[in-house]
Amino acid sequence: MSQSRDASKTPCGALKTTREKDHGACDRAWLDLAIKTANAAPEKGGSPHPRVKVGAILVDAKGKEIARAVNRFATGVDRRRPERYENNARSLWINCAEQMALAQALRHKADVKGAKMYVTLEPCAVCAGLLVESGIREVVVPLSSRRSYAKLKAKWKKSIEIGTSKLTEAGVKITAVDMDDTRG
Ligand SMILES: [Zn+2]
Repeated sequence: MSQSRDASKTPCGALKTTREKDHGACDRAWLDLAIKTANAAPEKGGSPHPRVKVGAILVDAKGKEIARAVNRFATGVDRRRPERYENNARSLWINCAEQMALAQALRHKADVKGAKMYVTLEPCAVCAGLLVESGIREVVVPLSSRRSYAKLKAKWKKSIEIGTSKLTEAGVKITAVDMDDTRG
């Protein structure tokens, strides 16, 4: 996965007009990239999860990309074994996108303090704790991720509920972006 060091080449920097560069438009552009990243074929870096494909992008305070990841098996762990996709095994074999993004930042020795995490599904309880502890300042999710919340399994619902409480209590801002808003 290539890392962009030049802010003008980011999805936000590519926006032409000042009107387009309003906050919401930048957030939508990053989330859009996160969605596309998650939905790519697994052999092209997309998520191998059969149903829940999650993308996460870490952006520093200056608007530069620090890390981009999807929910997937850790590097070197065999994703071709069918039993690893079975109901009770899947969530243990496949790591969350947020964890993978944080691990990538760690590998590149990037400073994530004050960074923004764009993620296509609201963080689970484990990820929320890690995001808080890493010093992430804001989590941005698509509004549609909240709309689909009602359909999630009870286990995940509870996990996201706790995750949201952790983020809120620790002062991490949560922003839900309407991806259909084209005013920008
Ligand atoms: Zn998670």
